[in-house]
Amino acid sequence: MMNVFFVGAGPGDPELITVKGQRLLGQADIIIYAGSLVNPALLSLAKNGAAIYNSASMTLDEVIAVVEQGVKENKLVVRLHTGDPSIYGAIQEQMDKLAGKSIAFEVIPGVSSFLATAAALKQEYTLPDVSQTVIITRLEGRTPVPEKEKLVKLASHEATMCIFLSVHMLDNVVKELIDGGYPAETPVAIVQKASWPDQKIYRGALKTIAQIARENNIDRTAMIVVGKVLDTNYALSRLYAPEFGHMFREAK
Ligand code: SAH
Repeated sequence: MMNVFFVGAGPGDPELITVKGQRLLGQADIIIYAGSLVNPALLSLAKNGAAIYNSASMTLDEVIAVVEQGVKENKLVVRLHTGDPSIYGAIQEQMDKLAGKSIAFEVIPGVSSFLATAAALKQEYTLPDVSQTVIITRLEGRTPVPEKEKLVKLASHEATMCIFLSVHMLDNVVKELIDGGYPAETPVAIVQKASWPDQKIYRGALKTIAQIARENNIDRTAMIVVGKVLDTNYALSRLYAPEFGHMFREAK
């Protein structure tokens, strides 16, 4: 029987967890959730008597020990991660430890915050003639970023960029992006706490956004989006053009 599930909690709004994730949360005997970014409202889905752990104060080995003990007692364990667990979720090390102990598990995906950010902005990231690529990245912090992936190098593509974990280093973000090739006028949006009740949206350009962020004290959970897609000029999608046939519709 499958007893261990890594579940994506979604970006904040408790209705943005998957149906499967919601069901598992309600059935779990043990829930280990990832600290401050998981909306506590999700924990109210837990059944009476479920044991709830905040992993923010736990080491990797402590987390694994709780999972292992739960499995021994044939309990259902949910490891709840913010957004989608595959993005900056530090789940690989957990999964590898479990695999090393021959503990089976499954991963239930979630709505990542960069997608909730697009929804908040009412923005498509992939506009014809503007950008067909989304780069998900971060500025180096305590976690190193490989040399070839430094912002200054990625910037040369001028693609749509979603930058996690970096809003507190916005001056450096801006410098690297401009040094790397984005014009200083390139539009930027910052969405703080996308999908939460206190969600906030700030818009500017590379050359103005650091000042805007300072004036508004943006230093918490926020996504930086950069790219010309945030401007309004783009070519219409070929998908719905009358003369453009495809598998499900003949050209006129
Ligand atoms: N696995 C998560 C990301 C965890 S890293 C996901 O898929 O979204 C934490 C970073 O995610 C934060 O520093 C911030 O950049 C971003 N983030 C998480 N939740 C957010 C939200 N509701 N709104 C904006 N950014 C968010």
